[in-house]
Amino acid sequence: MTKKALITGLTGQDGSYLAELLVSKGYEVYGLVRRSSSSNLGRIRHLGDKVKILSGDLLDQSSLMDVITESAPDEIYNLASQSYVPLSWTQPALTAEYTALGVSRLLESIRRCKPDAKFYQASSSEVFGQPDESPQTERTAFRPRNPYGVAKAYAHWMTINYRNQYNLYACCGITYTHESPRRGSEFVFRKITQGAAKIKLGLDKELKLGNLDARRDWCFAQDVVEAMWLMLQQEQAEDYIIASGAVNSVKDLVKYAFDYVGLNWQDYVSVDPAFYRPDEAVLLAGSIDKIHKELDWKPRYSFKNLVELMVENDLKELTDRSAS
Ligand code: GDP
Repeated sequence: MTKKALITGLTGQDGSYLAELLVSKGYEVYGLVRRSSSSNLGRIRHLGDKVKILSGDLLDQSSLMDVITESAPDEIYNLASQSYVPLSWTQPALTAEYTALGVSRLLESIRRCKPDAKFYQASSSEVFGQPDESPQTERTAFRPRNPYGVAKAYAHWMTINYRNQYNLYACCGITYTHESPRRGSEFVFRKITQGAAKIKLGLDKELKLGNLDARRDWCFAQDVVEAMWLMLQQEQAEDYIIASGAVNSVKDLVKYAFDYVGLNWQDYVSVDPAFYRPDEAVLLAGSIDKIHKELDWKPRYSFKNLVELMVENDLKELTDRSAS
C-alpha cells in the first residue's frame, strides 16, 4: 500500500529535500503550507503535482487537525519553525508560538486524529547552547542560550513526553548545521562557495570574511533528511543526533573551495572585522556513534565533497545566469 507522509516546513531547505526523497520512494507526499500573499514554493516547484499542498498553520490547532484528518499520514515530519536565531531575540514570543507551542498543537492533533502516525520532530543543536562537553551525545545536558534554542528544547521534551504518556511513535533528531545549494549566501558556507565561483568566473575580485578559525560541524542537507526518514522506519521511536561527526574551520572551507577552482585563496580572501561575531558560539559538534551503530547511518558526503558540490553548483548557476 502506498505510504503517506505529511511534511511541515515543506518549502524550506530540508522540507524540499525530504519531499524529493519520499517521492522517490513512492510516498504520497502532503505539505502543510502557511497561506501567504507571495509564493514561497521556489524550492519545491520542480516537484510539480507530486506534492499536495494543504493550507494550515502551526498557530492554529483546528487547521492542523483538519490537515491530519484529510491526509491521514503514516508519517509526519515537523520541519517548520521560526528558525532564525537573531529574530528569536526580537520576536521571542512568536518564536515560542511556532517553534515550541506549535509542536504541542501538532502532537495534540496527532493524538486526537491519527495516533498511529509516526512523528519526527526537528530538534536542533541549539538546545545544547553552551554544552558541558564536545562532541555532544544524546545524553548531553541542554543549556540553550537563545529563545530559539529554548523553544526547541521545549518541543524536544514535549515530543518525548507524548511518546511516554500516550505511547505515540514520536522521536527527535538533533541536527547540526546542514548546508546545500538551497541555502542562502548570508551563511558562510554558501558565501564562500559562491565567492570562489564568482572570482573564478571574473565576476568578483575578492572575498571578505570574518573569523577564519571559527569551526563547525557541517553536513549535507540531503544526508540529513535520509536520517530523518530512517528514524521513522524502526520498530521503536528513539532520539538521535544527526551530524557529520567531523569538525572543520572556515579556513578549511576556503581552502577546499579555492583549490577546486584552481586558485590560491590567500590572493583573494581578506578578513573584515565587520563579519566577526561578538559572541562566538561554543563548539557544537555531534557524536554520531548512536545513529551509526543503531541505524547504520553516516553522511555519504564528506566535508570536502560537499564544498566541491556546492562550488560546482554555484559555477553552473552563475554561468547559466550570465548566459540568460
Ligand atoms: P551559523 O552561525 O551556524 O548560523 O552559521 P554561519 O554560516 O552564519 O556562520 C558560521 C561561522 O562562520 C561563524 O562562526 C562565523 O563567525 C564564521 N564566519 C566567518 N566569516 C563569516 C562571514 O563572512 N559570514 C558569516 N555568516 N559567518 C562567518
